[in-house]
Amino acid sequence: MFNELVLASHNAGKLKELQAMLGASVKLRSVGEFSPVEPEETGLSFVENAILKARNAARLSGLPALADDSGLAVDVLGGAPGIYSARYADGQGDAANNAKLLLALKDVPEAERGAQFVCCLALVRHADDPLPILCEGLWHGRILNEARGAHGFGYDPLFWVPERNCSSAELGPVEKNQISHRALAMALLKQRLGLA
Ligand code: IMP
Repeated sequence: MFNELVLASHNAGKLKELQAMLGASVKLRSVGEFSPVEPEETGLSFVENAILKARNAARLSGLPALADDSGLAVDVLGGAPGIYSARYADGQGDAANNAKLLLALKDVPEAERGAQFVCCLALVRHADDPLPILCEGLWHGRILNEARGAHGFGYDPLFWVPERNCSSAELGPVEKNQISHRALAMALLKQRLGLA
């Protein structure tokens, strides 16, 4: 269906990870080949931001484009930090984001600390595509009272993975990439593209 897709990300690590999940039959190219500028993420939801980024990449490249938008949604916080996950603590980085989250949940009992990592993938065939392919992966867990584990990034040390009885940062990259929100969303996309 598609031999080549432009990935709406300048992050080489993300391109490598998504390419490995997608398989070799579709080549991912970075939107960085076409422009150094990243669009403003003005949506209020993961899906809006994924579509916005995919349309922008398709417009810049003239090629079909894939975008992902991801983050952490905590039930008791009404889904926060959500689309603001990367800059929850005003751009001060992962450690500050995690400290802010622990503080926000200070008095919240274990049973109410449910959360999910969210990944929304949007694929547009062209910039004005009225029917984007949308695939969402939700990875359910809960937020720990303190950090555990040294792998991963972002909120991984605070995310308890019930099916593995450990934090997400205690999983190795290979295992995480088999069960994560991104893996779940990518499995759906591969089904939609007939690649599964
Ligand atoms: P991005 O859009 O994939 O760059 O992710 C946005 C933000 O969500 C990241 O900066 C992290 O704070 C958080 N996030 C997304 N996916 C993960 C994950 O797999 N582990 C930990 N944090 C994540």
